[in-house]
Amino acid sequence: MADTRDGDTGRLVEFLQDRDVPCPQCGYNLRNLTGDDCPECGQKLRLSVGEQHLRFGWFLAAVTPGLFSGIAAVLMLILILAAKATGAGPFPPAIDALALFGFASGAAALALIVRRRKFLQLRPQVQRTWAIVAWAIHGLPFLGLVVLVFVTA
Ligand SMILES: [Zn+2]
Repeated sequence: MADTRDGDTGRLVEFLQDRDVPCPQCGYNLRNLTGDDCPECGQKLRLSVGEQHLRFGWFLAAVTPGLFSGIAAVLMLILILAAKATGAGPFPPAIDALALFGFASGAAALALIVRRRKFLQLRPQVQRTWAIVAWAIHGLPFLGLVVLVFVTA
């Protein structure tokens, strides 16, 4: 946890000498703090470097089509099983292929979520490329699905 060496406390006290900074726990103004804990609530404090805001945009863009496909595949599987149970069909092989694609895509999206740290370490241009590739891969099967449902039905 927090390192409370004297040097760190010294830098914390120095930092708060001329700044109005609220305690992250209780909001008490820590200006002129003399130790490494909040005088109001007793929370241990330390000086640290934080990110202004994490860039999640390309990550969300890259993961969205896969998640959508995975959810769509589950719904398709339910419909396929229900239709087969009631003796409907046969279905064009493209339906099974689309469901398979959806499952693979959903699995890829989950893998990306698990390894999001690696993704966020990539340069923004590389992240953008992955997002574009993900959308391109999903654009064609989606068009295929639209054609299948609305044109051939
Ligand atoms: Zn406090």
